[in-house]
Amino acid sequence: MTDHGIIVATTPLSEQYQQHFPDTAASPLATQQSVEAQLSGKTPLFSEVLAQTDFSTLQLIPADENRIKQALYAQKPEIADLAVLLSPVATAFLPELIQRAAQLTKQHFGAARQLFAPLYMSNLCANECTYCGFSMSQAVKRRVLNSEELLQEAEAVKALGHDQLLLVTGEHERKVGMDYFRRQIPLLRPLFSRLMLEVQPLTTIEYQELKQLGIDTVLVYQETYQQQAYQQYHLKGNKTDMRWRLDCPDRLGKAGIDKIGLGILLGLADWRLDAFYLATHLRHLQKHYWRSQFSVAFPRLRPCSGGIEPKVLVGDKELVQLYCAFRIFAPELELILSTRERARLRDLLLPLVITSISAGSKTQPGGYQVAPEALQQFSIDDERSPKEMAAVLTELGLQPVWTNWHPAFGRGSSCS
Ligand code: SF4
Repeated sequence: MTDHGIIVATTPLSEQYQQHFPDTAASPLATQQSVEAQLSGKTPLFSEVLAQTDFSTLQLIPADENRIKQALYAQKPEIADLAVLLSPVATAFLPELIQRAAQLTKQHFGAARQLFAPLYMSNLCANECTYCGFSMSQAVKRRVLNSEELLQEAEAVKALGHDQLLLVTGEHERKVGMDYFRRQIPLLRPLFSRLMLEVQPLTTIEYQELKQLGIDTVLVYQETYQQQAYQQYHLKGNKTDMRWRLDCPDRLGKAGIDKIGLGILLGLADWRLDAFYLATHLRHLQKHYWRSQFSVAFPRLRPCSGGIEPKVLVGDKELVQLYCAFRIFAPELELILSTRERARLRDLLLPLVITSISAGSKTQPGGYQVAPEALQQFSIDDERSPKEMAAVLTELGLQPVWTNWHPAFGRGSSCS
């Protein structure tokens, strides 16, 4: 970024996009990809859109006071408006961004704030991501919860008050793949009003089956959209195939998944550029899969066993700017904040922009009941229990929402 302009990279963005996707014919996932291509019909995949888009004109838009005010109050915000709001110049207008974002959050969500908890089903992983404590080279005790253990964990989460559950695994296709999900998801389905999933990217047909099994929401975070950085952090396993991951939300949209979660991991690369790419991705998906809803999260890299330090530091002020810019860009968007962030910052962001938070989280398989001493995927900062969190929300004048649907409306309807 420059002081005056929006996004400036060492090479034009259009060229960067074209460099992103080398020939994947040698990829172990190439066969699956060609099946997906046949299923894709005429809807272009996001990787194809990126490769053909020229964003160079955006670099010419000045981010001065007038342009920032225009972006703040745009009736139908464009990508260029978001780029202006993300610019370093806009940091000086943070009070205005906060005020506008809070106004839009209130207008679209009222006081309702969703609460959920993650349940780690497994920490097996066949990938090497240099920032993660579950990477295949890490000498941690591996565990895949069986049905009995999963039910114990689920009951422990329910006892905390939660009714919306995010199922999380490492990425291990062979041992924690569709066969495992087919066995376990039907056991958990009756216990929660909303079941979300964060696992390895799958095929459209597999997502269709997961929807039938009762999955409402699937999260698949790109981590970074910048190819060079992506390759630097993802060293082994299927996750090295950037395009397979990048086109995953298209497959979710084609499968008719109710809500699709996008995200980037802050700390890996230029956060403004990644946020800009993510916004482009969101607009592509909203255009083609308008029946689905979307959520976005911006987790910051946290310490973990054997993990790396952030290459790019994203301060609190910048995180607030990022969340506010996205609220203004997409007022209807679910914005998620996890327990990675400390209590004070969470309490500040909740009334302004956040509509969904985790609480009382354990980030290891068995962490609630079965094996609470096991190593976490990453350390958490906000240790408050869900009930304490609900009390904080009430004090802030907000309404904690535990249940995502009412039987009268059928499963899949959302408060957010
Ligand atoms: S980030 Fe995910 S895919 Fe990468 S090592 Fe960790 S669990 Fe595995």
